[in-house]
Amino acid sequence: MAAPNPTPRLNPRGGDRKGPGSTRPSLSLWYALGFILLLGLVQMYYLAPAGRPLPYSEFKTLLRNGSVAEVTVGEQTIRGTLKDAAVASAQGLAKQFTTNRIDDPKLVEELEQQQIKYSGEMVNRWLPELLGWLLPLVFFVAIWGFFFRRMSGAEGGVMSFARSRAKVFADDEVKVRFADVAGVDEAREELKEIVEFLKNPKKYTNLGGRIPKGVLLVGPPGTGKTLLARAVAGEAHVPFFSLSGSEFVEMFVGVGAARIRDLFQQAEAKAPCIVFIDELDALGKARVQSPVGSHEEREQTLNQLLAEMDGFDSRKGVIIMGATNRPEVLDPALLRPGRFDRQVLVDKPDVKGREDILRIHVKGVKVSADVDIRKVAARTAGFAGADLANLVNEAALLAARVDKTEVGPQEFESAIERLVAGLERKRVMSDKDRETIAYHETGHAVVASALEGQYPVHKISIVGRGFGVLGYTLHLPTEERYLSSRTQLLGELAVLLGGRTAEELTFGEITTGAQNDLLRATDIARAMVTEYGMSDELGLIHYEGNKRPKFLDIGMPQERGLYSEETAVKIDAEVMRIISEAHARARQILTDRREQVDIIARRLLSVEVMEGDELRRILGLPERDAAAPAAPAVPAPTPVS
Ligand code: ADP
Ligand code: MG
Ligand code: ZN
Repeated sequence: MAAPNPTPRLNPRGGDRKGPGSTRPSLSLWYALGFILLLGLVQMYYLAPAGRPLPYSEFKTLLRNGSVAEVTVGEQTIRGTLKDAAVASAQGLAKQFTTNRIDDPKLVEELEQQQIKYSGEMVNRWLPELLGWLLPLVFFVAIWGFFFRRMSGAEGGVMSFARSRAKVFADDEVKVRFADVAGVDEAREELKEIVEFLKNPKKYTNLGGRIPKGVLLVGPPGTGKTLLARAVAGEAHVPFFSLSGSEFVEMFVGVGAARIRDLFQQAEAKAPCIVFIDELDALGKARVQSPVGSHEEREQTLNQLLAEMDGFDSRKGVIIMGATNRPEVLDPALLRPGRFDRQVLVDKPDVKGREDILRIHVKGVKVSADVDIRKVAARTAGFAGADLANLVNEAALLAARVDKTEVGPQEFESAIERLVAGLERKRVMSDKDRETIAYHETGHAVVASALEGQYPVHKISIVGRGFGVLGYTLHLPTEERYLSSRTQLLGELAVLLGGRTAEELTFGEITTGAQNDLLRATDIARAMVTEYGMSDELGLIHYEGNKRPKFLDIGMPQERGLYSEETAVKIDAEVMRIISEAHARARQILTDRREQVDIIARRLLSVEVMEGDELRRILGLPERDAAAPAAPAVPAPTPVS
């Protein structure tokens, strides 16, 4: 893709100012070292012994000779003066001499005898002692000063390095178009509206319409979220400001917030335009009370973003787009109305989508005529757009290596093999797994369609979704529903168990794939018994007290409600009964429709994504989606996996 031009770069407030105190930290260190050196020299000069060192025996001889004039006895040395310079130089000595002191109790006696003037010497130890504590002190002060400058130096030299990493890309003319993005048709449809608005904001605002402020693109990595955001700007011919959430996470508190402020200022001046914040999760993680308090910078930045989003008027034509592959960690405040209130799912592509994406990427590559793109698409289940782009590139590299002029089918084949091996960690499915998942999803879908009062199935998919979900069945509500009846809940249980039941019936073997279904089913059944008063056996009692954690609360380890052991046994039995009845019901439904289940699962294996209408046609049911009102975006549809 065309690289964005890194035009203007944001300067945090007061960016380039250099304070007067910002001299090099090492300078004071040099002063200290020089001072110490000087002290050393002084000491050497004053304490240095003159002349050649005098052996003690010689000193004693000189003493007895009477040639010593004066002696100063130190702790370790004896210094003295000779009477006669001539005698001294005859022996190669200076008039001043020094000798090492030896333990000699008779020395004083002898000195008295010779009547030599002698004195003791107080050894002056201030220098070594001073150095002993001054040196480490100077050292620590220097180190501390250095780091202090680094930390607080929002205006210092180190900061300019940190700043340059976070770039705001301001692209006045984006070259990407919707035609460059494939396999994400639903997301593209939703974004077309945004493009319309950006092209002609007046048309909408004159009518008093409220334009969405923020659009959040949600989907696994490499599915083309960044690409789509750029395409929106490209289609609308508006400037595109983008930066990545991960670049905000700085060590320096306040920098990110300043950057956000400047970003919005720039954007407002250029409206209509798009502000795109990639990898929003790095910045917008839910704020938590942490005893360490180390998230201050991120939280400040996030708060600034929230404030800016609230503060500006979308009628000016600034649309904020975000992208994330971890929507579940986002701070709920980001998703409130007036912020990222619209969410667009950018999912991994199905066979057809993969084919389209491949066709886009082989455009720039010489591909031989016998390459069947459809076959390649069929072989790459689970690949995201970025993986497919990579695949084409790998194939081209392989062809170049063997000096081919065109990329042939063999190159695609080996590139797929290579990438699949590389993607193994990402769990590209084996054929057996795909089959199991196809039957599992079919089970959910068939049970859901057979039961009255369940949301109609909108779509079944066995394309791995990267969220730890192997496939899913999407029910869209036809109307908003605030209360669930007992019948509906029992139906939901049967739907949840439908996946597992289909596996049992088809393969006579069960897999781990139903774990989440079972968890949800157990939750519902237990809540029916202990919270909703829907079990005749246990009556209209709410057993859990207020123990259940609220939505999005960080749950404390849950304690059991206040009831006796006896009641606990009864509750467990009731839950078990409800679940096994739901299981039996699902089994009945699927056994009755054994042939259709096979047809649907087979079909699903080849197309990977099936619309609800096709499902109902196979089951001989009326096509409900057509009659249903346009899918309301309000309650998020819950996929059953
Ligand atoms: P995301 O932001 O979702 O992680 P990107 O938009 O960065 O993914 O995609 C990386 C590259 O993969 C794109 O530049 C493009 O070449 C290719 N790509 C991804 N998805 C698609 C797609 N749906 N259609 C065409 N190319 C795609
Ligand atoms: Mg991206
Ligand atoms: Zn399931």
